[in-house]
Amino acid sequence: MLDITALTIAGARKGLDKKEYSAQELTNACLSEIEKREPNIHAFLEVWMDSARDEAKAADEMIARGESRSLTGIPLAIKDNILIEGRRASSGSKILENYEASYNATVIEKLKREGAVFIGRTNMDEFAMGSSTENSAFGPTKNPHDTARVPGGSSGGSAAAVACGAALGALGSDTGGSIRQPAAFCGLVGLKPTYGSVSRFGLMAMGSSLDQIGPFAKTVADAEIIFEAIKGHDPLDSTSFPSEEEASPPQRKVIGVLRSFIERGGIDPEMLANFNSALEQLKSRGFTVKEVELPSLEYALAVYYVLMPAEASTNLARYDGIRYGLSTPAETIQEVYKKTRGQGFGREVRRRILIGSFVLSAGYADAYYRKARAVREVIRNDFAKAFESVDAIATPTTPAPAFKFGEKSDPLSMYLEDIFTVPVNLAGVPAISVPSGMVERDGSLLPAGFQIIGPSRSEKMLFAIGKCIENT
Ligand code: GLN
Repeated sequence: MLDITALTIAGARKGLDKKEYSAQELTNACLSEIEKREPNIHAFLEVWMDSARDEAKAADEMIARGESRSLTGIPLAIKDNILIEGRRASSGSKILENYEASYNATVIEKLKREGAVFIGRTNMDEFAMGSSTENSAFGPTKNPHDTARVPGGSSGGSAAAVACGAALGALGSDTGGSIRQPAAFCGLVGLKPTYGSVSRFGLMAMGSSLDQIGPFAKTVADAEIIFEAIKGHDPLDSTSFPSEEEASPPQRKVIGVLRSFIERGGIDPEMLANFNSALEQLKSRGFTVKEVELPSLEYALAVYYVLMPAEASTNLARYDGIRYGLSTPAETIQEVYKKTRGQGFGREVRRRILIGSFVLSAGYADAYYRKARAVREVIRNDFAKAFESVDAIATPTTPAPAFKFGEKSDPLSMYLEDIFTVPVNLAGVPAISVPSGMVERDGSLLPAGFQIIGPSRSEKMLFAIGKCIENT
């Protein structure tokens, strides 16, 4: 019997290619793990048992023909805001509960060509707004390390699916931390790629200038395998980079630490100790650690919570009861809009639509939206300047480990969860969260995450540094 909870993608690749087991056996092992754990965890909104078995069979044929690629026969879970033709994609929302995608996202096309197996679509905060999956219209996901706690969000279902062995890897989306924070809470590696390096075509838009699709995996090497498979220029996404431009920055082995920002970010003492010991680990691997200051970072959270709702309110205008999903009948077209949106969207989504419409409105756009755009440029420049003297910047991924359900019912306390992750999306640079051991909380041992931020298109370097942290 395969030990699916410990198996990596790289390990499974060897096992499959050496014919130690088939892709069908591997898929069945994931499906039986789902049968055991899913009733307790609720990582999935839908499990595609039959089609996953068919895809595994096709993968076995690819392997037999000697056409195996890095993800052939590997079971993956997909966040519910990434389109797969003919499949439901609800973005965790009632408004899209019965919506069926009419085309594949570019990342899905790429994974299909690899011969990957799609296990199911994973639970998420509605329209990717949240940090706990508590905002899903279909009930929350639980953290496999402690089911009284959240798995993080918004891609909490994808993280929980990998952490409990339901899939060997997963795709999530990260607008302000939605891959890195759940990866940290569930003891996984999560990558937010450079803005423009992975196509957003077929990803339901939240904040279009911030969103990126990225991988969840058990190891840095596995995250790299998925990233390599999904990245690349896409003519269908006008913000995607030309492929040729890829640059690998020089390795000076200098890591910048935002000491005062981290301390002001309200970090737990245990998390700080965990972070410091990961830094010691890097030092023992020949890295120099240097303090850096990015003065604009204290505005990052405020800037994010102006720009993201502004973009989200615009993107979500399309769910009007006419074009997609839910439609509530009424006397006039205005009433159809109002009723459909009032009933179809949850509280957090409505809150952000209101904030977004407000900061974009004629009287306030200069004071809020344009000001936030200007500060965003300052943040971007501060990062660029910092990267002149350091290779990468390190922070804890989150100020504290996974919290309990209901603990952050005040939206502002939930928003503070993102303090270390949102600056990265504002700057458009890549960052990886790597497990850095466990911290104790109320008798539970909970995973902590170490975030490494690099300059634009420095993913290769992030993987290299990440491997130094995880091999401890
Ligand atoms: N938690 C953040 C938010 O609610 C980030 C979400 C995300 O990255 N999709 O906006």
